[in-house]
Amino acid sequence: MSQVLKRPSVVVVGAGWAGLGASYHLAQQGYDVTLLEAGAYPGGLVAGWKTAKGRSIEAGIHGFWYPYRNIFSLVNELGLQPFTAWTRSSQYSPAGLEVESPIFQTEPLLPTPLGTFLYTRFKRIPLGDRLSALPLLYALIDFDNSDQAWRRYDSVTARELFKQFGVSARLYKESFEPMLLVGLFAPGEQCSAAAALGMLYYFILAHQPNFDVVWCRGTVGEMIFRPWVEQIEKMGGRIFTHRRVTDLVVDTQNAKPRVTGVVCGDESFDADAVIFAVGVTGMQKIITNSSALRQFPEFRNVMNLGAIDVLATRLWFDRKVSVPLPSNACFGFDPTTGWTFFDLNALHDEWQQEPASVIEADFYHANQLLPMTDDQIVAKVHHDLAVCVPEFRSAKVIDYSVVRLPRAVTHFSPGSYPSMLSGTTRVENLLMSGDWIVNRHGSWSQEKAYVTGLEAANRVITQFGIGQPAMILPVEPDEPHIQVARSVNQTLRGWGRSILPNWGGLE
Ligand SMILES: Cc1cc2nc3c(=O)[nH]c(=O)nc-3n(C[C@H](O)[C@H](O)[C@H](O)COP(=O)(O)OP(=O)(O)OC[C@H]3O[C@@H](n4cnc5c(N)ncnc54)[C@H](O)[C@@H]3O)c2cc1C
Repeated sequence: MSQVLKRPSVVVVGAGWAGLGASYHLAQQGYDVTLLEAGAYPGGLVAGWKTAKGRSIEAGIHGFWYPYRNIFSLVNELGLQPFTAWTRSSQYSPAGLEVESPIFQTEPLLPTPLGTFLYTRFKRIPLGDRLSALPLLYALIDFDNSDQAWRRYDSVTARELFKQFGVSARLYKESFEPMLLVGLFAPGEQCSAAAALGMLYYFILAHQPNFDVVWCRGTVGEMIFRPWVEQIEKMGGRIFTHRRVTDLVVDTQNAKPRVTGVVCGDESFDADAVIFAVGVTGMQKIITNSSALRQFPEFRNVMNLGAIDVLATRLWFDRKVSVPLPSNACFGFDPTTGWTFFDLNALHDEWQQEPASVIEADFYHANQLLPMTDDQIVAKVHHDLAVCVPEFRSAKVIDYSVVRLPRAVTHFSPGSYPSMLSGTTRVENLLMSGDWIVNRHGSWSQEKAYVTGLEAANRVITQFGIGQPAMILPVEPDEPHIQVARSVNQTLRGWGRSILPNWGGLE
């Protein structure tokens, strides 16, 4: 009689991109997967839901940039077509339109970063200021996403980095800081220089088309997560919402500690392996509560990390206002806050035929905005919007949604790198994933979260020797001239003859 082997049971905690990515692949490979999510819906920071009036809203609009190869591949595999065409975007300040970006992949291809500098249409920043960014290329070459590079640059603020490399005050204030506010959710003096370099390289500079972006033609929750969750469940994965994990059961009797279960208030779930896929704030709550995790210094160190407040608003107007481009980033309205606004009539199928404007406006590093009342917030959004597109002045807001997201997104603050966890822990069968986990893939945000979920799934597969690992597409290799420059720089570093200042003195 053939023996029926028990499938290893894996508990995944958190149903954002990371947790769903891990669950999907492990369910596909025949593992017994249980996904526990504290919130009411899967999706994490990208969850979407409906208002009482049946209108779709979400925790902020999410763009999918050109290098999100793994997410695009997943969406193809699921047979979905959720995205808009590539969109152009613009940037506003209280002075008006500042920058318009073309669709970079349709312009003649130039060696990076020439295309970015030549094709971006700056309306105000003088050429001399723009050229002051050139010396910064050295730091971009030197920062190769290795552990050593992170340690060299992480204890320096992005503000100091740009200053040291001679970037003009105007270019910093009107170009780089706005990018940091929307890319890392914080002003330069509060961002790690390492994170700033990694983020700018990935989204903008590595290859000319990288800044090209598509959006979902509805909420990501509806267009991607709902069919994805159905697939996971079809393959036998169980997804439970309203399950807040409070602790783990860790067996420390043997030389190598092992996790054997997950505690969710009064409930518990047995596990042969556990994958955490929660954000920094969620992880800190679990560690604070967990005597099992508190015994390990690397988990206690997670308490050093920070998270940033975000505010997502959606406004329904009484008339149609013509918005020149569908996606827009704004700076200079509040000293430490960046914001974006989106013309949802242009982006979302649901609002295409709507006779009046539907606008999403999301604020990053919105600490000082969260205590305001909804009415105050809506008045501010309306006012700021009318500064960018004056026709909004005469339009009336007839409905709105205000979603406050306190301590929601990862704060890549200076000096935070050593406190971040990597994908593996000293508890062999306890794995980590999420957009704040240290990995070497080179991606950021949603793509990174998804990739870390697949990496965690692959580690489970290696441990149990069952199933095929997920194929993770690497980021596109550096262009040849960048490869040469990096290799020369590494050689010089090896010889100890670098001309670089010793960033942070950590070498
Ligand atoms: C307004 C806004 C705009 C953004 N814009 C973009 C963009 O344009 N492009 C982009 O790529 N990225 C963007 N991001 C970032 C992106 O949302 C994140 O990088 C990504 O969603 C992180 O996914 P994750 O799986 O790591 O974590 P999360 O999405 O945070 O998922 C973690 C999940 O864990 C759950 N959880 C927490 N604690 C527990 C517990 N104890 N038990 C069980 N479950 C728990 C949470 O409820 C959550 O569902 C934006 C974020 C925000 C807030």
